[in-house]
Amino acid sequence: MATTAATLESSDLERFRSETADWLREHAPPSIVGLTGTELDGNWGGRRAVFANDGMKQWLEVMGEKGWTAPDWPVEYGGGGLSPAEAKVLAQEMRGQRLPAPLIGFGLTMIGPTLLRFGNEEQKREHLSRVCRGEIRWCQGYSEPDSGSDLASLKTKAVRDGDDFIISGQKVWTSYADEADWIFALVRTSTLDKKQDGITFLLIDMDSPGVSVKPILLISGKSPFCETFFDEVRVPVRNVVHEIDAGWTVAKALLGHERSMIADAFGGATAGPPKKKGSRGRLVDLAAHYVGERDGQIADAVLRDQVAQSEMDTRCFGLTVQRARDAAKAGHQPGPESSLFKIYATELNQERHELMVRLAGPGALGWEGPGFADEELKLTRDWLRSRGNSIEGGTSEIQLNIIAKHVLGLPD
Ligand SMILES: Cc1cc2nc3c(=O)[nH]c(=O)nc-3n(C[C@H](O)[C@H](O)[C@H](O)COP(=O)(O)OP(=O)(O)OC[C@H]3O[C@@H](n4cnc5c(N)ncnc54)[C@H](O)[C@@H]3O)c2cc1C
Repeated sequence: MATTAATLESSDLERFRSETADWLREHAPPSIVGLTGTELDGNWGGRRAVFANDGMKQWLEVMGEKGWTAPDWPVEYGGGGLSPAEAKVLAQEMRGQRLPAPLIGFGLTMIGPTLLRFGNEEQKREHLSRVCRGEIRWCQGYSEPDSGSDLASLKTKAVRDGDDFIISGQKVWTSYADEADWIFALVRTSTLDKKQDGITFLLIDMDSPGVSVKPILLISGKSPFCETFFDEVRVPVRNVVHEIDAGWTVAKALLGHERSMIADAFGGATAGPPKKKGSRGRLVDLAAHYVGERDGQIADAVLRDQVAQSEMDTRCFGLTVQRARDAAKAGHQPGPESSLFKIYATELNQERHELMVRLAGPGALGWEGPGFADEELKLTRDWLRSRGNSIEGGTSEIQLNIIAKHVLGLPD
């Protein structure tokens, strides 16, 4: 009996695979096939979205309509309602046809899963389907000028006034706040003995009067971070997620999703976007270009060994991340083990970028100007960007503290 059920199940899945492959072939615009990296800069969605090309806009619309921007979310909230096995098949087929994700961002990876768990019915209906259709871009309002690692000391104040809260204070390092439509923020609603108590998790429309954003100019000339100011901003009490004064529980759960997302992004060997046609992956392509090849192998034995080790580590990590992702799809919420993934992903990604810079030699010394190829300029900037991995989403020291306390059970 068991064999018959299993066979039936797998034949259903095979039918789903072939229907999915046909559907993707029919609906994916040819101009999006094989797009990767910065070519996809627009697929964060939101009111200010700038798409890589018309095809990407169309791709988001058609996938959003089908619910396949969030394949395993419930249909009533705009998702695809797929089982974990079906969602995996969809991902495999998209990768096989070299189709990029139609949408990325904090809506799908952070606030969405958090609302599915902690949001009330009205919040789920209001926000999740807009996330799925890519209509709203979210940013994260956690850090403050004096509250980073010690996040629970945050001071942005929320004072109750009838059915509203009045918010005053400042957030910092708010990634892409200048392009976001909504912010999920931690605010202080009470001052209690334990600083973790008295924090509330609030959803705030960035167009509310009194919200202002000031991009922080970095040495690169870019401004991915912002200071976000709240000057007596009126926010309805119904925008509280979970309970007033109990936002710390929600905040920690969201951080679990954030750390998993960071780990997921670097587990790229199995999970990442499709490779360019004819490419053997960025690292191997770089090594072949700068070091040269002999008998089909990278010419320098030491560098060949380092490239192979990095590829193997990335591949193994990708498979581990895949296993965690399958567990998440089966309903397991990310816990303190997401700190293990985050710290490993950080080290892997930073070492990989160090290696790429070593391979490129003087080619990785460019900042701007015609003396360097675009890929070389990107290499330098990507290497510098990777330094932030050990800070964002909680620093590596903080991850080690969490692992010591909550995974290994060591005393404070
Ligand atoms: C790329 C990037 C994107 C970010 N995006 C956002 C965002 O969108 N929204 C947002 O809210 N924040 C964001 N941040 C901010 C980030 O969460 C904070 O920078 C981080 O939590 C560290 O806080 P801090 O900068 O105040 O450093 P601090 O907390 O002041 O830490 C300074 C140093 O002291 C160490 N330290 C502090 N406490 C301890 C301790 N108890 N034990 C051991 N060592 C300790 C830290 O590890 C660090 O090395 C982003 C940061 C980066 C780099």
